[in-house]
Amino acid sequence: MIPVLAVHEATRTYPGGVAALQAVSLSIMDGEMVAIVGPSGSGKSTLLQLMGTLDKPSSGRIELRGNDVAKLSDRSISALRSRWIGFVFQQFFLSDGVSAVDNVAQGLLYAGVPKRKRRPLALAALDRVGLGHRAGHFPGELSGGERQRVAIARAVVNEPAILLADEPTGNLDTRNGEAILGLLADLSADGTTIVIITHDREIAAGMPRRIELLDGTLRLDTGSPMGVAV
Ligand code: ADP
Repeated sequence: MIPVLAVHEATRTYPGGVAALQAVSLSIMDGEMVAIVGPSGSGKSTLLQLMGTLDKPSSGRIELRGNDVAKLSDRSISALRSRWIGFVFQQFFLSDGVSAVDNVAQGLLYAGVPKRKRRPLALAALDRVGLGHRAGHFPGELSGGERQRVAIARAVVNEPAILLADEPTGNLDTRNGEAILGLLADLSADGTTIVIITHDREIAAGMPRRIELLDGTLRLDTGSPMGVAV
């Protein structure tokens, strides 16, 4: 089976010579739920940027369903990204003056979904995250936990092949954080492939697979419970 996402010997050196990632390799298979864990500065965000095709490795290769990203034009990469990858960030990144449903519908803007279909799909996604009753509310009228639910609905509305979540509970209190992790687990149980980046070892410990980074190198990969070699 072809992995949803594969990283082969990826190295990323920033201008000035900081080696943020060194020869990191991993594969994510369909339906997995994986935590990438490490302390601040260990290279997690850099790896997420490479996995999300937002940045390119200095050497090595990133493949989305077997497609070598380096061989694609920027335009093709953007198209692939909007079709296949959903992003969730610690800071939510919702548009303030736009209702929850329209924030979610924005997730379909670049996916070629006709305008009349965007709202019904956005409403269905809000239902999935338990926020159907808040569709007309603006982000300022929602709690942090609810905002993150809207952001998750926006990330999954297009049914991406993989969801990349960067410290998704970082701005939430314990109770709301746990609820968001529960929601991600529910989405995973429904078949969504999810990668969660976290510095929190406790969160990582609850995931079926853990990949640990330290000083830009991969220190541990507990491997896929699906029995796939990495
Ligand atoms: P984490 O997400 O685990 O905190 P990062 O990937 O942000 O780690 O950073 C890894 C290393 O790369 C750190 O030493 C950081 O200072 C450095 N770094 C990150 N981004 C840049 C950048 N744009 N330019 C130079 N150095 C960077």
